Amino acid sequence: MGAGRFAPSPSGPLHLGNLRTAILAWLFARSTQRDFLLRVEDLDRVRSGAEATQIAELEAVGLNFDGTILRQSERFGLYFDVVEDLKKRNLVYPCFCSRKDIAEAGSAPHAAPGAYPGTCRNLSPDEREAKAKIRPAALRLRSEVNEYSVHDVLAGKYTSTVDDFVLVRNDGAPAYNLAVVIDDALSGIDQVVRGDDLLSSAPRQAYLASLLGYQIPDYVHVALALNSKGQRLAKRDGAVTLEEITEHGVRPADVVAILLESLGLPSTSLQAALEAFDPANLPREPWIVEPEKIVQQLMSQASRNR
Ligand code: GLU
Repeated sequence: MGAGRFAPSPSGPLHLGNLRTAILAWLFARSTQRDFLLRVEDLDRVRSGAEATQIAELEAVGLNFDGTILRQSERFGLYFDVVEDLKKRNLVYPCFCSRKDIAEAGSAPHAAPGAYPGTCRNLSPDEREAKAKIRPAALRLRSEVNEYSVHDVLAGKYTSTVDDFVLVRNDGAPAYNLAVVIDDALSGIDQVVRGDDLLSSAPRQAYLASLLGYQIPDYVHVALALNSKGQRLAKRDGAVTLEEITEHGVRPADVVAILLESLGLPSTSLQAALEAFDPANLPREPWIVEPEKIVQQLMSQASRNR
């Protein structure tokens, strides 16, 4: 039996978009008889107390998880061991470029716009030594491809750039793309359901997984919740967190109902939604959220139920 997962960054309370993605990840895992794991992606962007709030919120909406919660901050040794292995295979090099250096270097010929141009890929030992005196190095993957393809359950075959992406940041912290690949593989996760803002990262991650001899998971990148301007839902959009909405006397179950409705699923319970769940019928367009309207709708429902 494989596993799916939800892997939030503890940067604040969960909002409607995060919860909707969590519900989708749960539906995909449970409808395929997989375990469902929770991983806290606390490499950075950590806000004190956010992890506990997020866990309480996931419980409040009725999502159940298997196994123990994994925290990336407790696994640095594991990530660095993998980097050591890659170093032995000559697949890692130090990079001294700042963001500005990379922007000014422009793209290498034949490389995709925005791809790392390879400035530090072939520095001599003397050049490395000189640069190391000026800036701490990040570690990059010496990628042997320019692009890689993955299969996504919703998007189909998807190909995107694989450049020499960062494995360890120049502040010494493991990079997201490294940690996510190792964690998914070591946890037996073979189904990755997450927002489609990460679709373009999937080829990099799958390529790294292939180098490490890991099985490449099934990918499902789901449409995000966006505000009326087409931007990712965020704090500025008003009452978008479960915390804020329930402060108005709305029950978490009513919030779940709205989220299930937005997915075209029966809204009576997660269980009813699970029974009716068919990926082929999922909306492919982003869910446009107008928080004011949702809160109004939920409040009038709540007062009717009282
Ligand atoms: N931690 C990421 C986020 O909260 C998700 C990473 C993933 O699912 O691979 O956006």
